[in-house]
Amino acid sequence: MAQIAHNIYIHVPFCVKRCKYCAFFSRACANPDWDTWGERIISEIKSWHARLGNIVVPTIFFGGGTPSLMPTDVFAKIIGAINKNFYIESNAEISIETNPGTIDKIKMTQFCDAGANRISIGVQSFDDKKLQFLGRIHSANDAMRTIDMAMQIGVRVSADFIYGLPGDKIQDIIHMCKTINKIGITHCSLYELTIEENTPLSKMKLDMPDNNTMAEMYMAIQKHLNMPRYEVSNYAVDGHECQHNMNIWDGAPYIGIGRGAAGRIFINNTWYEQMGDETLFQPISDSDRAIERLITGIRTTRGVFLDNAIKQITDLEFAKSHSDVLMFSGERIHATDSGMLILDDIIEKLVK
Ligand code: SF4
Repeated sequence: MAQIAHNIYIHVPFCVKRCKYCAFFSRACANPDWDTWGERIISEIKSWHARLGNIVVPTIFFGGGTPSLMPTDVFAKIIGAINKNFYIESNAEISIETNPGTIDKIKMTQFCDAGANRISIGVQSFDDKKLQFLGRIHSANDAMRTIDMAMQIGVRVSADFIYGLPGDKIQDIIHMCKTINKIGITHCSLYELTIEENTPLSKMKLDMPDNNTMAEMYMAIQKHLNMPRYEVSNYAVDGHECQHNMNIWDGAPYIGIGRGAAGRIFINNTWYEQMGDETLFQPISDSDRAIERLITGIRTTRGVFLDNAIKQITDLEFAKSHSDVLMFSGERIHATDSGMLILDDIIEKLVK
């Protein structure tokens, strides 16, 4: 049976130094054995080829960790292996996460020559004091230079930011939005700072902004940023949304490659949950998969497509009686602006 297209996520688990807020799967190691790591990634690619055949690949995303630490020849070999084992669509989106302070223009150009066509930059803040508080390895100037480089190369550029730090005021967020507008990037992700367990920040006594201030900041972003929101934390000029994430949020299959990567595989009408480095591969029920799709889809402004599997696990009566937070548009259901502020509560009630 012909297998359907799968997106590919590759996890690069190394960083120069751990940031103080980070709970991602990564370790501080600026000079890992890249050749050995790259070979393992390529052997995973081959083993997926053996299971799935020559599938179509619409998007590839190198996340981390700090993928920009990777030598460009290792990146090129991985892209070559994907090309050899699968069919990369001619207009495939190939993203690489990049940290200021780990890349210069030559290296960025080499990533792009090898196939990357979207650079996602971890800026986090334009304020050096805040960058220090977060434990980032770069300055605001480094971040600006990295954005500049990517824009000069002419690929699609995205930048990540964190807001809601101790002492953050609405004016700070508005200023950040105006700076983003001035730079002219077409995609950005703005995440609220969450204090994760066992991180250095969790051991500090922090005076965090209260919920009302956080909600005001969230509203201020939508008002002052020149790009519409398309997911709870993501904003893009029309047509510049991250296709990889959109596909996954919409429920498309994806392969997670490398330790720390998660995937959802679809083989012969059965869904499997999977972790990279062959650490997990097991079937999941259609209803569990539908719940996952509802949870990710409702976070997007276009919402979840109400197919039969989604209808079976969704409390549509709850949705109909809460039009202040949920709306139906054609065959989809999505959260309103006020719904976006309380998504976790909504999801809990929406799943039957
Ligand atoms: S660079 Fe990213 S993955 Fe690495 S420690 Fe910092 S936040 Fe975590």
